[in-house]
Amino acid sequence: MGREAGPKCKQCRREGEKLFLKGDRCYSRNCAMNSHSRPPGEGSKKRRPRRSQYQIHLREKQKARRIYGVRERQFRSYVAEAKRKKGVTGEALLTLLERRFDNLVYRAGFASSRQQARQMIVHGHLELNGRATNVPSALLRDGDMVSIKEGRRSRLKAIVEANQGREIPTWLEANADAMKFQLVSTPNVEQMGLSIATNLIVEFYSR
Ligand code: SF4
Repeated sequence: MGREAGPKCKQCRREGEKLFLKGDRCYSRNCAMNSHSRPPGEGSKKRRPRRSQYQIHLREKQKARRIYGVRERQFRSYVAEAKRKKGVTGEALLTLLERRFDNLVYRAGFASSRQQARQMIVHGHLELNGRATNVPSALLRDGDMVSIKEGRRSRLKAIVEANQGREIPTWLEANADAMKFQLVSTPNVEQMGLSIATNLIVEFYSR
């Protein structure tokens, strides 16, 4: 599975908010949004150019895609799958993204960013329900258990410990000492605490 490429901080500046793409740096004073919050190429402009409706929809879609590090093709397939589900499409879309293996490893505090989580998965450090799984886009279900392989624990201990200061969402039950966590229940949109206007994304793909 491919990932969103390009300078991470520029992506935040383009979307006008912190997307937390660089791990520890995002939580430090060195975050580029503290000093260069204007979009790339607009630094010298006194006023921000007015955005068209198309641009507003596009930016919201790009923001969600960048937060989860998903390429356009896969993102589009998530939208299509969300449309097939019952209920509100935007909520179904966020639920799909949130259930991704790499996202949950990050959310559980086992990696400093979704990108690092993806690397850990691809390098075969993790097990899903006791079985080696190296697919970052795997979708977890309620009750699924993730653990770091026994032989890799000493190597990854420092990474897991370094991320224990972050707040772990209530829908995950994490045990950093045992190096495992469980998806207790799939969160609803309010619990996710994201500032993504999913209706704009759905409208973008409905044009
Ligand atoms: Fe975005 Fe700041 Fe992290 Fe850079 S350091 S990726 S600007 S949140």
